[in-house]
Amino acid sequence: MALEEKREKRPPVTPMMIEEEAALRNGSRGLPPGPWAEAAGPRPRTTERHIAVHKRLVLGFAVSILALLAVTMIAVMLSVRFEECGAAADGPPRAGGNGSLSGAARQPPGAGQPPGRPEEEVRGGEAAEEEEEEEEEEWQRRRELPPWARPRLPRHLRPLHYNLMLSAFMENFTFSGEVNVQLEVRNASRYIVLHAHRMHIDAVRVAEDKLAGGVRVARTFFYPQTQVFVVVLNRSLEVQRSYNLKIIYNALIENELLGFFRSSYVLHGERRFLGVTQFSPTHARKAFPCFDEPIYKATFKISIRHQATYLSLSNMPVETSVFEEDGWVTDHFSQTPLMSTYYLAWAVCNFTYRETVTKSGVVVRLYARPDAIRRGSGDYALNITRRLIEFYEDYFKVPYSLPKLDLLAVPKHPYAAMENWGLSVFVEQRILLDPSISSILYLLDVTMVIVHELCHQWFGDLVTPVWWEDVWLKEGFAHYFEFVGTDYLYPGWNMEKQRFLTDVLHEVMLLDGLASSHPVSQEVQQASDIDRVFDWIAYKKGAALIRMLASFMGHSVFQMGLQALKRVGKSVNIQEVMDQWTLQMGYPVITVLGNETTDNIIVISQERFVYDRDTKPKDPARGDNSYLWQIPLTIAVGNTSHISSEAIIWVSNKSEHHRIPALEEASWLLGNINQTGYFRVNYDIRNWRLLINQLTRNHEVISVSNRAGLIDDAFNLARAGYLPQNIPLEIMRYLSEEKDFLPWHAASRALYPLDKLLDRTENYNIFNEYILRQVASMYLKLGWPTNNLNKSLVQASYQHEELRREVIMLACSFGNKHCHQQAATLISDWISSNRNRIPLNVRDIVYCTGVSLMDEDVWEFIWMKFHSTTAVSEKKILLEALTCSDDRNLLNRLLNLSLNSEVVLDQDAIDVIIHVARNPHGRDLAWKFFREKWKILNARYGEALFMNSKLVSGVTEFLNTEGELRELKNFIKSYEGGAAVSFSRAVETVEANVRWQRLYKEELFQWLRKSLTQ
Ligand SMILES: [Zn+2]
Repeated sequence: MALEEKREKRPPVTPMMIEEEAALRNGSRGLPPGPWAEAAGPRPRTTERHIAVHKRLVLGFAVSILALLAVTMIAVMLSVRFEECGAAADGPPRAGGNGSLSGAARQPPGAGQPPGRPEEEVRGGEAAEEEEEEEEEEWQRRRELPPWARPRLPRHLRPLHYNLMLSAFMENFTFSGEVNVQLEVRNASRYIVLHAHRMHIDAVRVAEDKLAGGVRVARTFFYPQTQVFVVVLNRSLEVQRSYNLKIIYNALIENELLGFFRSSYVLHGERRFLGVTQFSPTHARKAFPCFDEPIYKATFKISIRHQATYLSLSNMPVETSVFEEDGWVTDHFSQTPLMSTYYLAWAVCNFTYRETVTKSGVVVRLYARPDAIRRGSGDYALNITRRLIEFYEDYFKVPYSLPKLDLLAVPKHPYAAMENWGLSVFVEQRILLDPSISSILYLLDVTMVIVHELCHQWFGDLVTPVWWEDVWLKEGFAHYFEFVGTDYLYPGWNMEKQRFLTDVLHEVMLLDGLASSHPVSQEVQQASDIDRVFDWIAYKKGAALIRMLASFMGHSVFQMGLQALKRVGKSVNIQEVMDQWTLQMGYPVITVLGNETTDNIIVISQERFVYDRDTKPKDPARGDNSYLWQIPLTIAVGNTSHISSEAIIWVSNKSEHHRIPALEEASWLLGNINQTGYFRVNYDIRNWRLLINQLTRNHEVISVSNRAGLIDDAFNLARAGYLPQNIPLEIMRYLSEEKDFLPWHAASRALYPLDKLLDRTENYNIFNEYILRQVASMYLKLGWPTNNLNKSLVQASYQHEELRREVIMLACSFGNKHCHQQAATLISDWISSNRNRIPLNVRDIVYCTGVSLMDEDVWEFIWMKFHSTTAVSEKKILLEALTCSDDRNLLNRLLNLSLNSEVVLDQDAIDVIIHVARNPHGRDLAWKFFREKWKILNARYGEALFMNSKLVSGVTEFLNTEGELRELKNFIKSYEGGAAVSFSRAVETVEANVRWQRLYKEELFQWLRKSLTQ
C-alpha cells in the first residue's frame, strides 16, 4: 500500500513465516498445525522467534545484490514471520455445502424473495438477547472472555476455501452476496466467529461436508465491538472434520473510501459510476463475512453478477461469463492461490484498457476511464510495469505467480495505491500521466508508486505478514525498493544514493525526533489499532533501517551464509542490535568531541535526539536517559585536500573513548559516512568550523551525500537547541558553488520549517534577505528552462533540471525580483494568448507565484482552468496554486468550496486545507476552518486514519505562538475521541515551535543582522 506522498515534502511490514518449498509443491499444502497455531497467537516481542526460510527465495537472495540481502537479514535477525503463499494450493475445493445457490441472492435487497428453502433464519428479539446474556455470564464465571469479545479471532477454525457469489446493483448502490466457506476444525467448539461488519445477514446454514448433514444453528448475532458475526450451534463441530458455512447477506456500495465503495467520473457530460474495493487492512469484513486476519490464508473462487453495460475485474482472470436474457451477466473468475483477505479485490466499472505482455507471458492491462485510455495517459505506467515485472522476476528469482496483472486507475481512493494481488488499484493521480503536460516530479511520483506496488506483488502478496505489528518490514522494504527500482528504470538518477536521503531519511527523522513518536514495530491488539501502524514511521524508518543494515552487514558477510550472519564483527549480535532500533522509538544523536585529549583520543557519546527537550517522555517509567543503541558509526578524518578511508566504530555506551590514528592539528572529523546510518552527528564547535572551511574552500573533498547530511543535521540540531543557530546558516554559504542537486534540496527542505517559524514575525525580512543572497548567484548562473523536455533529455539531465527547479523555487518564494517578473510575464502571456508556454518543470512554481503576486483576475483564470482541464496532474497543481493567494477572501472561498465533492475530490480537499495553512496569510483561516469543520472532516476521513493524521499535522505543524498553542489545547479538550495520537503529536510540535521562538529566535536574528551589515 502506498500512502499519498508529495515528493517535495513528505509514506509500512509484519511477521514472516516462510515455508519449505517442498510443502508447496507436493500438493499436501497447508500449514502444519504447530507453526500455524503458534503464529496466530500473540508474539513475544523480544524473545527468540522461529523462522524457516523458503529455499527458492534464499537462492534468489544469494545471487541478488545488497539490498535484498538486507531483507533476508532483517527477517532472520528479527525472526520476523511472513507467510509464503504457494502457487499450488490445496486440491480443487469441494463445492460449498449442498451446492444449490439460493435465488434470493440475485435480487436487489428488499426486492427479492426470501431464500428458496427456509435456511436457518437469523434469530433476533428478546429471547436471543436473554440467551446471549446468559452465555456471557457463563464466560464470566469461567473468568474468560467469550470468543467473540477477544481482540483476535479464536483459533479453533480455519477457512480453507471461499466460494463467493456477488450481485452488484449499480443503480441503487447495493449488493447481495452468498459466501460458502469451507472450514477445518482445529478444536471442537459450538461457536463460529468470523468478521462481518455493516451488512445485513439474511440466512446462515452450516453443513458437514462429507456427510451432507446439517448442523442446527441455535442463534446468530453481531458483536460490533470486535466487528464479528457469531453463529452459535446446537452441537460442537468436531475436530479434523470440515464443514461448510453458508451465509446470505446484502450491503451498501458505500459512498466512502473503504470496503466495497463507489466513486464516479464525468464522461461526455454524463456522470458514470464504478464500484471498487479497498480491504487493507481490515475492511474485507465490510464486503463479505470472512476470517479477516492475514494469517487466515485461503483460496477464493469469486463470481460477480452485474449489468452487461459494466465489466467486472478481480484478482484472477475471468474463466467464463454467463449472459442472461435480461441484460445481466455473471463473470466467474478462476480460483486464486492461497491468499489473505486484505489483498483480495474486485471492481465493477465501465472502463476501457490497453495491454502489454511480459517476456515471461504475464498479461498486463491498464484499466481507466475511456477518455484517459484514448489519450494514452496509461501508456507510461503500462510500459514501466512490463519492465519492472521483468526486473523483479530477475531480482527475486521467483516468477510473477498469477497469469495476469491488472492496474486499475480510479478517481477516488484512500491511499495512493493498493497492491491487491493481480489487481492493483491506483488513484488516477498516481498512475495516469500525460507526457505533454507532466513535470519530472510528477513522473517521479507516478514511477515510484508503481515500483512500490509491484514490489508488493512479491513482498507482501506472495510472502505475507502474519500479523500487523511488523507492517514496517513489508512497507519499509517496498519503500526502499522505490529507489532501487527507479534506479533500474533511470540509471542516471542515482535515487538510492541520493534522493533517498532527503525524501526518506531526513523526512522521517523530523517525525521520529518527537518524544511522542513510537517504535517502528508497534504492538497491535485490536482492529482499531491497525490503521495506526500504516504511517510514515513504518514506511520511512523501516526503509532507512533496512538500508543501514545492508550497509553495515556488507556483501561479503552475506556470502558466508545465513548461519554466519548472526554475528558480525567482534562482538556485535545483529539481532540484539536490530531489536534496539526496531523496538525503541526515536534515534540517537552522536556527539564527537575531538582532539580534546592527547594521544589522538576522541570522546563519543550518544543520547536520544528530541526536538523539544522540555517534553516529558511518553513512557515516564523510562526517561530519555535510558535509551541506548548499538550504533555502527563510520568515521573519517580529512584535511584540505584529502579524506581518509572510513573506519567503523560500534558505539554501545553512553560515552566512550576511541583512538583515531591519523588525527592532526588541522584535520576534521566526519561521522556517518554517506549518511547510511539512522542517527545524527554533532561535533564540537571547532570541528564544525573546520568543516565549514572545508566546504567553502573545496567542498568536493566531502561526498555529495555527506554535504546534504551536514546541512540537514546542522539545521535540525540547531532547531532542537544542540547547536548555535548561526552554524547551519554559515554552512549554507558554500552553496553558491554547489552544482549538485542533493545539497540544495536538503537545504531547501531544512529551510522550510525555519521559514514557517519566522514568516509572521516582524523581522522576517532580515531572514528573507539572507536567504536571497545565498541563492542569487546560482539563480543567475542557471537561469530559466526555455523549452519543454523531451524523453531523452529527462534521462540525461534530471539532476541539472531538478537543481534549476529547486533554485528557482527558492528564489521565487523568497522574493527574488527577477524571478517574480519572469513568473508574471509567463502568466500574462498565457492569459493573453490562451496558450500555455510555461515550462512543465516549473509550472507549479509559476502558477503559485503568479497567484500570490497578481490580482484577482489571475486567481479566477486559474480557477477556470482548474475546472476545464481533464489532465489529473495539471488539475492538481492548478488547485494548489489557488491556495497561494494573499487575498483572505479568496482563501476563505476556496476553503468553503473544498468540502464540495462535486468540485474538489475528497482526497484533494485535505491538500487544499493544508496548503492554505502553509500560506502565512491563510494559516489562521485554515486553522479556524479546521476547528469549525472538524466534525465533518472527521466523519469523512476518520476511518482512513492516515488521511486524518495528515490533515491534523498539516494544519497544526506551523502554529507557533502561545495563543495558538492554547487554542489547540482547548480544541482538543472540547471534542471527544479519535485521532488522539495525531493530536498529541501536534501539541508536542507546536510546543517545540513556541519553545524555539522563546529561546532561539532572537539569537538567530542578532546573528543575521550582524552578518548582513558585514
Ligand atoms: Zn505498500
